[in-house]
Amino acid sequence: MKIAFIGLGVMGKPMAKNLLKAGHQLFVYARKAAVLEEMKAAGAAVCASASDTVRDVDLVITMLPNSPNVKSVMLEDDRLAEKMPRTAAYIDCSSINPAASREIAARLAEYGIDMLDAPVSGGEPKAVDGTLAFMVGGKEEVFNRFRPVLEAMGSSVVRCGEVGAGNVTKLCNQTIVAVNIAALAEALQMGQMFGAEPQKIFDAVKGGLAGSTVMNAKAPMMMDQDFRPGFRIDLHIKDLNNVVEAARAVDAPIPLTQSVLEMMKVLHHDGDGGCDHSALLRYYQKLSGETLHR
Ligand code: NAD
Repeated sequence: MKIAFIGLGVMGKPMAKNLLKAGHQLFVYARKAAVLEEMKAAGAAVCASASDTVRDVDLVITMLPNSPNVKSVMLEDDRLAEKMPRTAAYIDCSSINPAASREIAARLAEYGIDMLDAPVSGGEPKAVDGTLAFMVGGKEEVFNRFRPVLEAMGSSVVRCGEVGAGNVTKLCNQTIVAVNIAALAEALQMGQMFGAEPQKIFDAVKGGLAGSTVMNAKAPMMMDQDFRPGFRIDLHIKDLNNVVEAARAVDAPIPLTQSVLEMMKVLHHDGDGGCDHSALLRYYQKLSGETLHR
């Protein structure tokens, strides 16, 4: 399949490389010359602009930071919605506000172009391994047509509903992860202050009801004070701000999300925005004046 891929950052670059490995023909554009060189060496056709990538493709994929970036590329600045072939489809893998996904899909529908919103969970290592989890919104027949393309980049591909449902699910995912990490930080810090060893708490708890993927991944990072990302606090703030915006639109109560968002904002203002989201522990360390250890 001929695919235009826009947004070759931490996630997009390895995802695009997996599409090349699966035998797809890729047309790419990036702002950084080094990224274009790397993609050319991997077998992609390098284009001079985003518009040039979509001239003669079956599919356009974007992996951009947030709603304004996707709108800029598709509707406002590069206007790929107008320029892409009417026979092609569009898949946005960015984590954005579901309302923006629906807005872009409605504009594409005016040209008869189908769209899937297909954000991912998993981070850079899973993007490299091709084992991302895709949460997809869009028509069932469009999903079935492009499922093999997503399977070249992920090991779990689930259709969650119509357009926007992918990003709704991703926002739920981001709330669950954020609140989980905060609960873990709160409990480990509290346990240590009660005189228990954090490692023993982790060992005893992880096999029970409170155990989780979040706990297995983040408890060791917290005990080692190793906050190299991973998933950056600033990106999680972006997602939780999207949760707040989306929740306001339907009047959904989100007291836990709001609390964790405030904690993350404190960390951002203290210069920790580039740290892994497990650095939520630092919020508790600042309040208690105590550092977590193993
Ligand atoms: P990133 O900032 O590394 O990459 C975004 C890329 O988009 C950059 O290379 C940037 O130059 C490019 N870009 C922005 N505007 C552009 C434009 N107009 N034209 C062409 N290129 C443009 O971000 P990322 O970490 O790859 O994240 C991408 C999306 O995936 C985000 O929505 C993020 O929330 C989501 N996500 C990230 C992770 C993670 O662990 N990093 C995990 C799951 C989901």
